[in-house]
Amino acid sequence: MGPLGVVVFLSLFSLSTSENCSDCKLLSKTVYINATDCDYLKCTEDEGMKLNHHTSNEELEAYLKHWRTSYNEITAVKPIGKSVKGVILYDFIISDNPEQHEPLEPEFKYVGNMHGNEVVGREILINLIEWLLRNYKKNETATYLVDNTRIHILVSMNPDGYAESVDNNWLKGRENANKVDLNRNFPNYDEVAYKLIDLVKGQCRTHHLQETGLVPSNLQKEQPETKAIMRWLKMYPFVLSANLHGGSFVANYPYDVGSYRGKSKTPDDELFRHLAFVYSSSHSFMSDGSKANQCAGDKAFPDGITNGADWYPVPGGMQDYNYDTSNCYEITLELGCIKYPKKKDMWMYWYQNKDALLNFMNAVHIGIKGIIVDENGNGLPDVKVTVEDNRYDHNPAMSCHSVYSAEDGDFFRLLLEGDYDVTFELPFYKTVVKRKVNVKSNDVVTMDTIFMERE
Ligand SMILES: [Zn+2]
Repeated sequence: MGPLGVVVFLSLFSLSTSENCSDCKLLSKTVYINATDCDYLKCTEDEGMKLNHHTSNEELEAYLKHWRTSYNEITAVKPIGKSVKGVILYDFIISDNPEQHEPLEPEFKYVGNMHGNEVVGREILINLIEWLLRNYKKNETATYLVDNTRIHILVSMNPDGYAESVDNNWLKGRENANKVDLNRNFPNYDEVAYKLIDLVKGQCRTHHLQETGLVPSNLQKEQPETKAIMRWLKMYPFVLSANLHGGSFVANYPYDVGSYRGKSKTPDDELFRHLAFVYSSSHSFMSDGSKANQCAGDKAFPDGITNGADWYPVPGGMQDYNYDTSNCYEITLELGCIKYPKKKDMWMYWYQNKDALLNFMNAVHIGIKGIIVDENGNGLPDVKVTVEDNRYDHNPAMSCHSVYSAEDGDFFRLLLEGDYDVTFELPFYKTVVKRKVNVKSNDVVTMDTIFMERE
């Protein structure tokens, strides 16, 4: 048994020998809502949900349609594009009002199976959909998340790669049908951000960089799957996201590329480290840093998290593209040493990740939000919202990264505990500044309505 086998054996042993739910605490070191109920005696099921599956593209489409019909009040299915071979990419939406954006209700997304042979994310997202739907109005956590969040799940970003993949193969099916690695296929706007960060003059801009007119030098032909994600990012005011992979156990956060070798910090470095730790610490063992959880060839990851560039550079990756060009904060999750585990082992991954998936989703509810209106009370979109944190000497400064208000004039800004000065700017309107807005730990402040007058 090689090192990979040991990991599987240990995980299997610790889970399947648990006799009662007191051991379930292992699953939930940091739980914001309430702990998962579980019964390991029926490992291959979770309250009637079957967990050992490898789901074909055809089966996936049929499941999504079935769930859409069975839970029609809280679901919507939107095609967002097609793969090279014409498989439709479906955004499966779960919310109390799934067809429209509700002001002050944040939009969240999970993306699975970007690398076609990394199947853990794909299968546990199927479980997550089913768990949320079955437990809505029955379980407090499920009900809270569905009622207060618009949840988008793209189970597979790379169905063509998946169709090529086979058990226990490290590379086959990773790329799309044109042999392109989709996580290297986004325009690398990190390069533009580095150009604009001038620490000496105190100037910077790290957001919505496609609007600066500056173009990354590595522009390549975007694949249909990549284009679908780029369009999707413009369709909804996403706030938080994770992109599910396999091959290691770690939660990876931007930037994925450095202007020099080593760590490459965003203005939101502390926030990103927190978000990654919410996942790793709620996973059954990702954050414990013991050797048993390291995959062959990996270094140790303290707290189960890593800055992307500090691990290895990924130019053209999806998480940085989210941060560089939209309001959305995305991290990348590596959920196991084996990229394509055997069907009989799939149940383990659900139990390892269940609380983490829920807690990370719940982290969309931290920071500040509010609605910005004009003199007539109409919502103002595209207002630039910038925060300044006086307690820390961020480098680059947090004020480098602004977010913009959505169609209804509502905005969301993820923040850690602290006092912030918040500036609202829109051309032809008088700038509004709100000072010392206090944010408590793991909480969201809904600000009083912000009125903006014409100049
Ligand atoms: Zn991957």
